[in-house]
Amino acid sequence: MSLHLYNTLHRKKQPFVPIDPKRVTLYVCGPTVYSYAHIGNARAAMAGDLVFRMLRHHYGPDHVVYARNITDVDDKINAAAQAEGVDISVITNKFAEIYQDDMRALNMLDPTLEPRATDHIPEMITTIQALVDKGHAYVAEGHVLFSTGSFERYGALSGRNLDDMIAGSRVEVAPYKKAPTDFVLWKPSKPGEPVWDSPFGAGRPGWHLECTAMIAKNLGIPFDIHGGGHDLIFPHHENEVAQGCCAHGEETYARFWVHNGFLTMDSEKMSKSLGNVTLVHDLIKTYPGEVLRWALLAGHYRAPLDWTDAGLQQAKSALDKLYGVLQRADDIHAPPGAPSPALVAAMDDDLNTPQAYAELFALAKALETASSPEEKEERKGQLLASGHLLGFLQTDAADWFAGNTDGDDIAKIEALIAKRQQARAEKNWAAADAARDELTAMGIEVLDGPQGTTWRKV
Ligand code: AMP
Ligand code: ZN
Repeated sequence: MSLHLYNTLHRKKQPFVPIDPKRVTLYVCGPTVYSYAHIGNARAAMAGDLVFRMLRHHYGPDHVVYARNITDVDDKINAAAQAEGVDISVITNKFAEIYQDDMRALNMLDPTLEPRATDHIPEMITTIQALVDKGHAYVAEGHVLFSTGSFERYGALSGRNLDDMIAGSRVEVAPYKKAPTDFVLWKPSKPGEPVWDSPFGAGRPGWHLECTAMIAKNLGIPFDIHGGGHDLIFPHHENEVAQGCCAHGEETYARFWVHNGFLTMDSEKMSKSLGNVTLVHDLIKTYPGEVLRWALLAGHYRAPLDWTDAGLQQAKSALDKLYGVLQRADDIHAPPGAPSPALVAAMDDDLNTPQAYAELFALAKALETASSPEEKEERKGQLLASGHLLGFLQTDAADWFAGNTDGDDIAKIEALIAKRQQARAEKNWAAADAARDELTAMGIEVLDGPQGTTWRKV
């Protein structure tokens, strides 16, 4: 089976065929960098990371271009910069860097490109000019607006009619608009806000335009896959399609639209405005990145995912089981292998991570029950390659179980284990038990197996 993705545009799962298999293009709406990302934001980037990994697997790492943008011009950024009395770049550079580090901590691959909105102002102006020239945009009270009535297919992506959209709360009402769904391409800057010169007056771009300009410059229109959270379908993505198709005279903007479901807490969407956020930056201080990643991918990306402590505990214990198998197979040399066909098939089926997890456990069991050394080597190689495809099992098993134990403690633990072994060899059971008790008091569990003694932090 080839990669199949649920395409929001056609409301069904479809086989993915790229425009050019030598240059497969993917874009995901990235963060607005005025503050720390929460774990719900990470879910959107994570869906992009999975698509990126599967495209690299099928087409080769050198043939996929993944752009995850940075929105670095926005009202919330202006407010944060004004509150601190600094230039907006101080805020955006700081939080863009933190965002990149946080996503890396969740084992996401770096995107090929991370375009910034403020580096694309000339392209935005050219796009607006093209829209005005073609009669798709008009100037009103210092604003340039896209005329949604000029694009027959407006509403096709979100599948709503214009009346539904107007009824929705996210359409901004303004007296200078010809139609309520018309949206801003360019607007005057307020005092103290960033400002750029343009043929339409000094001002700044509208949000929807930013993504289209970055895509046109870095990927080209049409392109293969556009991703983002479910909340962006309307109006953001609908507006991207309208301005992208009209400015570039193309029938198609993105061929596939992939939208992730919300991450919720107590059944409510996690969002900064509701204040129910858990920051990635804080979570990574307590949990290994792989545990957070496992918890994020434990449900299918399109379904809602409730973020709970129980989910985190389950993620930790699932990974402990897999690493336990690897630890017991520590002496087996694993040649670089290919991921299991069943795991790839699960991922090809619209990124079915729950099924892929079941396959990882089946592979671990196959490794434990393998009889010949050749079989063990092959199965360990396959388990590791399958884990790596999904961004798991990237740590040495001993390091995984050592957790954040520091070097001095590790030396002490190993000395106690040696002491216990010596005592056991001498049949001095009291001394052996005393050494084990001391380890237990340090929170260390000792495991005796056919390959010798190992330990883990509990
Ligand atoms: P923002 O920084 O709010 O523009 O959001 C960045 C990305 O995170 C967008 O793709 C949003 O759709 C996505 N997002 C925000 N909140 C959540 C959530 N609770 N669950 C899933 N995705 C979200
Ligand atoms: Zn966008």
